[in-house]
Amino acid sequence: MSTVTSSATVAETALASTFAQSSTAADNSELPMLCLRNITKSFGDEIVLEDISFSVPRAATVVLLGPSGCGKTTMLRIIAGLDRPDSGEVWSGSRQLTGPGTFVDVRYRRIGMVFQDLALFPHMTVFKNVAYGLGGRSFGERKKRQQKIVEEAIALVELEGLEHRRPHQLSGGQQQRVALARALVPKPEVILFDEPFASLDTSLRVEVRTEVHELLHSLGTTAVFVTHDQEEAFVIGEEVVVMADKRIVQHDRPSVLYSKPISRWVGLFVGQANMLPASVCGASAQTILGSIQLDEEYTSSQADVLIRPEHLEMLPSGSDNDGSAEAGAEVSTGFGTVELVEYHGHDTMYAVRLADDCVLKVLLPGSSPQFDHGSKVELCYVGPPATAFVKDQVE
Ligand code: ATP
Repeated sequence: MSTVTSSATVAETALASTFAQSSTAADNSELPMLCLRNITKSFGDEIVLEDISFSVPRAATVVLLGPSGCGKTTMLRIIAGLDRPDSGEVWSGSRQLTGPGTFVDVRYRRIGMVFQDLALFPHMTVFKNVAYGLGGRSFGERKKRQQKIVEEAIALVELEGLEHRRPHQLSGGQQQRVALARALVPKPEVILFDEPFASLDTSLRVEVRTEVHELLHSLGTTAVFVTHDQEEAFVIGEEVVVMADKRIVQHDRPSVLYSKPISRWVGLFVGQANMLPASVCGASAQTILGSIQLDEEYTSSQADVLIRPEHLEMLPSGSDNDGSAEAGAEVSTGFGTVELVEYHGHDTMYAVRLADDCVLKVLLPGSSPQFDHGSKVELCYVGPPATAFVKDQVE
């Protein structure tokens, strides 16, 4: 299934078009496919979601990312119609699904779901599990049409030949595809995924994730994913909604979240980061690495500057700085000792202790580590103008 888009045959392309998302008469294609307005939800005395609003463009994948317990699954259940919010609205195009006096039943929302535990029926074959997505029994011509749709969905996720197996006779990745085919057969307008890869081991997770990503892309399906894994959110999501403590803290494209997080917390949550104390004057920060250019003018005099580990260059202490910074550009340096070496294969993360008990993470590419534990090194900042968080900034 890994080549759905790259080497799709004519037959595969035709299959994909069967399941490709199409606009319904009720939907104005200029409206977002999904729109949530001011959703609030409590369980007993506990407020779980507070004033949540966001929209999902047609054919896009939007990821809800946040720590455990921040309300992601509850949000998904409200979209699906499995839970009712205390207040707020859910719209699909121009169709209101939830709102004052309106609650469209889960069966009529045209929203599919793939759960973390996949929720496959153990006693049913692959074919029957997928057919279940089409609802109750059918007869005659309708039954024939439905059988064809199921066969096509099974072919689309490349499970032909396995129709008669039961879930326990399939690998984790194959089970994942059954769940996806079942969600696809009713031709939903939106598919919701709740941590769908969580039960797979690391290498399979990456493989299945790529397959699902390719398939959603080729079908033009609108999808909402829930995950607490930042890497997964960035790979899958065209847009990422970061949630914390029942609220949305930032909604942006992954590259914007990474380069311009709205707070220290988001900066640290969406990737490896150093927060370097600095004295700020306008768009310049004085740090232990020297002067660092900032991405805008700041009014406060004290701040933490966000330094991504891959934006630090590391040289043996005392060597000439031929740095990768552009010739003539000001280079900021600091001296320190390597305290930790973490080898990842494609790159190595170092922890370097500088003066004042300041420890910085440094990520260097390359297939073997260039420095050992205890090496004396010199650091310089070689990244773009950096973001700062002023000391009195409310998180
Ligand atoms: P995780 O990543 O761990 O799945 P989450 O971000 O998806 O977490 P939710 O499952 O939405 O979080 O739960 C949010 C909060 O609501 C938690 O404190 C949880 O205990 C609570 N909660 C969820 N469902 C119910 C329920 N049916 N009854 C009472 N409390 C609930």
